[in-house]
Amino acid sequence: RRVEADRLARINEVACDFYHQILLESPEGGAARRYLRDRGYDGEIARRFRLGFAPERWEALAGHLAAKGFDPALGRQLGLIRPGKEGRSDYDLFRKRLLFPILDLAGRVTAFGGRVLDDSLPKYMNSPESPIYHKGRVLFGLCEAREGMRQRREGIVVEGYFDQMALYRAGFTNAVATCGTALTVEHARLLKRYAERLLLLFDQDSAGRKATFRAMEVLLAEGIPASVVALEPGEDPDSFLRLHGVDDFSRRLEAARPVLEVYMETVLAEHGASIEGTTRAVDEILARLRLIPGEIERSLYLRALAARTGIAEDLIRRQAEKGGPANRP
Ligand code: ATP
Ligand code: MN
Ligand code: MN
Ligand code: MN
Repeated sequence: RRVEADRLARINEVACDFYHQILLESPEGGAARRYLRDRGYDGEIARRFRLGFAPERWEALAGHLAAKGFDPALGRQLGLIRPGKEGRSDYDLFRKRLLFPILDLAGRVTAFGGRVLDDSLPKYMNSPESPIYHKGRVLFGLCEAREGMRQRREGIVVEGYFDQMALYRAGFTNAVATCGTALTVEHARLLKRYAERLLLLFDQDSAGRKATFRAMEVLLAEGIPASVVALEPGEDPDSFLRLHGVDDFSRRLEAARPVLEVYMETVLAEHGASIEGTTRAVDEILARLRLIPGEIERSLYLRALAARTGIAEDLIRRQAEKGGPANRP
């Protein structure tokens, strides 16, 4: 198994070098170089993150690996090479895409994410899961960011590749990206090794809000304190930094608020001030507060909920104790 993993990692490494050279030097990489430059990312970032470009040819990587004498089965196992049907030859998974290598903690390439250069769909595509890639267990940028997290004792969690790179470029070297998947318990435990607390900085749209509150549940159960950063509606960290600059961004980070406070406010507002609405909102909120392992913290949040709703505190407390596992979210 170990041997197999090493052989697979080696193929990813060769593929990464191949695509990286094309992005940096080949005439085939011209459009991707322009694309990156137009988004404000220079060669230094491209080298730092070992970004690549998969050319339009069907058998660019397949041919490269064959010429180097690698077993084609390994490329197929990684999903980088797709088997040709009915006697036709194998072809590349990634074509005409900007590539982001996803590294494990040892700095080895476990997978790639690829973005089109225009607005065709799907916008992003990833390596499929493989013996060396489980998307619920890796975070984009963690290998580079863990030292920054340790120093600042704080980690920033964003959605996208460009968000992570935008923060890195702006000097926030403690950010990782979930790459569109929900934050998992494994993600949380990885982050906990390096950071004492987290800033959640997902896109400012309904999907991002949902992702924030789902991440909150995981983090509550793991006992990791988290705050939410508010940007402008519709923005993500990459677009916000480009539009508003680093100083404005830093002020937003400083104004981060505990995710549970934001959550309580949001749920109460969504359900309206009617008796029915408030009752349902309180039920929903209590289901989350029950996840808090620390008694003191839980107690403080119950008091805050009582204050916000005007419901007697001892009633809130009794209700909180009532809910068993069946009432958990
Ligand atoms: P960009 O700024 O390049 O337009 P983004 O990162 O803002 O991209 P989002 O749509 O906000 O793109 O998605 C956030 C992240 O989710 C992406 O960076 C990518 O990692 C992941 N993602 C989005 N769409 C897909 C998809 N179709 N398949 C796989 N992953 C995806
Ligand atoms: Mn998004
Ligand atoms: Mn974006
Ligand atoms: Mn986005």
